[in-house]
Parts: sequence; structure tokens; C-alpha cells
Amino acid sequence: MNPVLVEILAIGDELLYGQTKDTNSHWISVELDKVGFKVIRRTTIGDKEDQILTAFAEAEHHADIVLITGGLGPTSDDLTKPCLVKYFNCETAIHPEALAEVTDFFKRRGRELTEVNRQQAALPICCTKITNPTGTAPGMWFDKNGKVFVSMPGVPHEMKRMMLDMVIPKLKAKFQTPALHHQMIRTVGIGESYLADKISDWEKSLPNHIRLAYLPGLGEVKLRLTGTGDSIDVLKQEINVLVEKLKPLAGEYIYGYGDTPLQVVIGNILREKKLKLSIAESCTGGYLSHLITSIPGSSDYYLGSIIPYDYEIKMRQLGVRPETLEKYGAVSEPTIIEMANIVRSKFNADIGIATSGIAGPGGATPDKPVGTIWIAYSDKRKTVTKLLKLSQERLYNIEYTATAALNLIRENLPA
Ligand code: AMP
Ligand code: MG
Repeated sequence: MNPVLVEILAIGDELLYGQTKDTNSHWISVELDKVGFKVIRRTTIGDKEDQILTAFAEAEHHADIVLITGGLGPTSDDLTKPCLVKYFNCETAIHPEALAEVTDFFKRRGRELTEVNRQQAALPICCTKITNPTGTAPGMWFDKNGKVFVSMPGVPHEMKRMMLDMVIPKLKAKFQTPALHHQMIRTVGIGESYLADKISDWEKSLPNHIRLAYLPGLGEVKLRLTGTGDSIDVLKQEINVLVEKLKPLAGEYIYGYGDTPLQVVIGNILREKKLKLSIAESCTGGYLSHLITSIPGSSDYYLGSIIPYDYEIKMRQLGVRPETLEKYGAVSEPTIIEMANIVRSKFNADIGIATSGIAGPGGATPDKPVGTIWIAYSDKRKTVTKLLKLSQERLYNIEYTATAALNLIRENLPA
């Protein structure tokens, strides 16, 4: 079965100026993916007739379904409807049911129907009206040589209501979509290109109907397998087999699947093993603690943190020895070892984690450039350190370090 191809057109000058974020296209992509339609292109265009008409023609050429949002307001700057009239070369007429709906809309709000609003009920006679239960501009559905155009308002809640109640059910009735299944495999602790090297034979062995995407993030790489076929159960089974074959090649980096982030996976392991965590975080300034405490139920395993950002606080509040700080500096292996060990014993925890580094852009010394960051893991059997050499960019350094520290926990948890 061939995939059913969709192009989304977002119309509005405000989108191009950057004043409004095009959330509609993203939302439509998510909803269509759930029901097996394949979005092949998303285009944003301004309120300009020639560009809108060109975009219609291109979309019709590429896709089976063209979903349009925006440009349906009653004012003269909104051009989608006149463009559709031109494109489909048909007259408009007041649609009695649309008029009744828009009249009712205003009546219920105790407002008078103006001529401009009355004109919202004027629809191309070659379209099927789509009721807008939460606004005044009706949607329009056009059939053309087996292809479909749907025009909806730009206002997100109006578009969503129409899509969910009417457009998606109607599309599902008209088109048969192949089964589509995604599996996300989440890895940490290895860069995208190194990972690609390790799994290249496995990647080459993938059948044509199962595709692989690398989705790199901060310190993480997600691998997405997307399969299309006739049966969702068969696809799931095929993808499970492929994941099993991946494990001997990259299993040490795989921490989870689907939507579950690293802090949740680690929290679940800590809870299961009944281990308590404490943190001394300097350069991450509380961000690591924030990631952990954003998860409901984190009090099961997280005891607390100290943020000894200042040199004096590292000594007085945490208890790092002045000799260590003087001799090696705050960003050093001896200091990070003391930080992790001390916070573990002070908090009476099973695991102590510490971070200390130069997040930038200032603070570099000749032997410690910006991005020099130490992290450490401590439990009663061992203390493990890691030196990160990151970037010039402060927030990147902070976020990357937090992920690396979480991964250090994952790699060193007692069996
Ligand atoms: P319109 O249908 O062009 O009158 O759009 C009405 C309003 O919907 C605009 O003022 C925007 O605030 C919003 N809007 C239009 N297009 C989008 C879009 N693609 N994503 C999110 N909001 C949008
Ligand atoms: Mg507009």
C-alpha cells in the first residue's frame, strides 16, 4: 500500500515576520502521524496572492492532501478564500447553513452580525463546508481528481476542533493509510558519528520499509526506526527483532526507549535499588537537581543538593579542604573527588555526585579553558571522575554536564 502524502500550508504574514510561531503545522504533523498519513512538506507563505496560488499548485503536484491554515479572517488582508476561488475557478454564494451558523454565533454572544461577518458565510460553490463550532470562519473541503484540499482558520483552537471532529475522520474515510510504527531508541555517552560507525552494518541491513533517523540532542542521540507496512503487529515484531540485533553493537549506550528521559530511567533504577542520591553541583548551579526533582516521586531517592558556587562556600559549607583548593583549584580532579565524597557522607546518601567547571564565557586560565568541567560519582565502593572538554557556550555546557552526570550515575550504579 502506498503512503498517503500530505503537504501543510501555513498562511499569514505574521508567521514570516516571526510574530506568531507556526504551532499549527507542528500540531497537524503530530496528529496525522498518529493515524498513518505521511506529511512530506510544510510550507509557510505570506498573505500574497501570487505566492499562495503557486504554493497551491506545487502542493497539489507533490501531495494527495493539502491542509491549509490561516488567511480566513473576514478582513481584506486575509486572502486564502479568494485564492481558493481563483484556483478552483468557481463562484461563491452565501451558504445558507454557514449563514445560520455565523448568525447564531453572534446572537449567542449578543452581538450584531455585520456585513463583513455575513460574508464569511459566502463560500465557493465547489467546496463542502466544514462547520467551525468555535469561531466564525467555516472550513472548506475541495475534491479534485482524487486529491483533497482543506482550508481551515489560523486560530489554533478553531483549527484543532475542526481537524479532530471532522477533517481527520473524513480523511480516514476517504484514504486507506498503510500501518506506520515508530520506535525511539535513546542513547547517551556517544556522539552521533561514532555511533553511526558502530552500527553501520546493522543500518545497511535494514529493509526498505524500515527507515532509520539519527536525532542528536545535548549529550544524547536518539535513533528512530520508522516502519511502514500492512500490519502494525508485524511491524512491531520486525522492529523488536532489529532492536535486539542492535543491542550487541550499542547496548552499553542505550538507556531507554520511547519518550522516557534519562532522569526518569535513573530515578526508576535508584528507587528499585533503594539507593539515595545527593549532589554537590557547582558549575551546573542547580540545573541537575532541577532535572531530577522535575520528576514526580523523586523524593523516593533524592535527598538534596548543595550548590557550593563560591570558593569560600566550597570550604565552609561543603567542607572541601583549603589545601586541596589552594593546590589544585576548584576545577580539578582532587577537588571534585572531595566534593562527591563529602556530599555523600554529609547527606548520609548511597551516591554522591559533583560537578565543577568553567561554564564561560569568562573564568578561563591558560591550563583550564572555558568548557573544562569535572564531574564525579561516589559510592561506598568507589569514586569515579570524568573530565569534559566542552564548548564556549555557557548554557550548552551546563545542560551537557547535567546529562553527562546523569550518565555517570547510570554507568556506575552498583549491580
Ligand atoms: P487568520 O486565519 O489568518 O485570520 O489567523 C488568525 C490568527 O491565528 C492569527 O492572528 C494568528 O495569531 C493565528 N495563527 C495563524 N496561523 C497560525 C499558525 N500556523 N500557527 C499558530 N497560530 C496561527
Ligand atoms: Mg491572517
